[in-house]
Amino acid sequence: MVLYLDNSATTQVLPEVKDAMLPYLFEEFGNPSSKFYSLAENAKNVVKESRDAVAQLLGCTSKEVIFTSGATESNNMIIKGVADYYSEERGNHIVTTKTEHPAVLETCKYLENKGFRVTYLDVDQYGRINIKDIEDIIKNDPPLLISIIWGNNEVGSLNPITEIATLCEENDIFFHTDATQVIGKVDFNLDDLRGVRFLSCSSHKVHGPKGIGTAVIRRDELDIPTKITPLLHGGSQEDGYRSGTLAVHNIVGFGKAAKLTNDNLPNNIERLGELENELTNILNKKFGHNIVFNHDYKDKIPGILSVNFKGVNNELLMKNLAPYVAVSTGSACSSGKPSHVLEAMGYSIDEIRSTIRLSLSPTTTKEELKVFNQL
Ligand code: PMP
Repeated sequence: MVLYLDNSATTQVLPEVKDAMLPYLFEEFGNPSSKFYSLAENAKNVVKESRDAVAQLLGCTSKEVIFTSGATESNNMIIKGVADYYSEERGNHIVTTKTEHPAVLETCKYLENKGFRVTYLDVDQYGRINIKDIEDIIKNDPPLLISIIWGNNEVGSLNPITEIATLCEENDIFFHTDATQVIGKVDFNLDDLRGVRFLSCSSHKVHGPKGIGTAVIRRDELDIPTKITPLLHGGSQEDGYRSGTLAVHNIVGFGKAAKLTNDNLPNNIERLGELENELTNILNKKFGHNIVFNHDYKDKIPGILSVNFKGVNNELLMKNLAPYVAVSTGSACSSGKPSHVLEAMGYSIDEIRSTIRLSLSPTTTKEELKVFNQL
């Protein structure tokens, strides 16, 4: 058996999730937008239950959960949607970081070509932004939107989201965060983070199915929704934010995965921390001075390790490891290119070319990690 340590790329659907989904692929095939007959009503009810479970996990209201095909779509929808809807009122300046996922970076580049101004914030050696930079920008050149990744997908570093959200709330600036990697690994509640006006995530990072995710679009104190221009126009599903017949089986799977994630959150976070320590010890013992860890030890997503195998080509290393351990060089979405995240953190091309990412799941066992001792 190959040990799967690429859980930041995707995770295996849990058996309970698969079982919950199966009826909605066959017998229960109704369209939740139809009315009166039981297939439609069943679909409607189960979508509602799933929406409630996702809202519960994130700590927002169910009405704020908009189902999309995943975080790529959510990032595109929110950034383009805010830019289009508010630029006349709030100007054309967008702020993001150099270490975002391509779904944010490429969307920002697209908007730059359309005439928007984008500031790409520098990061420190661990990939975190400096809150002072945000303060300065808000004071001197207040942006239309700030979009900052919560936890980095390559090195796991957490950005100071509470501080950014507070600053944005105080200054009435739209703030979006890509929370894809922190779901199920960081305990948070959007109820305490009113300044986070938009959030993106995907189901398949928490043992749910692929092709389903959420754009959280907050409502104000009077329960009035925040308007944005939709990415997809059509039948007005999802309150008009995202048209298209709902993928009920995927939504059910996401709902089940969200419920399981929420129920087990403290245990899973603790377990990921223990597994990370175990793996760190095993790697240190086995490889000693031949490896360097690029990630920080604190304020990070537990279970993501970025390891530089000094002087070893990472593609070759991954290939040689493949019969025993499945890992990646970083983001599966930009494979082939040297990591822009490590580059922004100040690493040389040689260091980047010898780095791999190992990412754990709460389903990984300490026993399985012993495979490294046999290499
Ligand atoms: N943002 C981050 C931080 C991610 O890690 C990913 C998945 N690699 C995405 C966005 C995109 O998610 P999806 O492929 O599910 O659309």
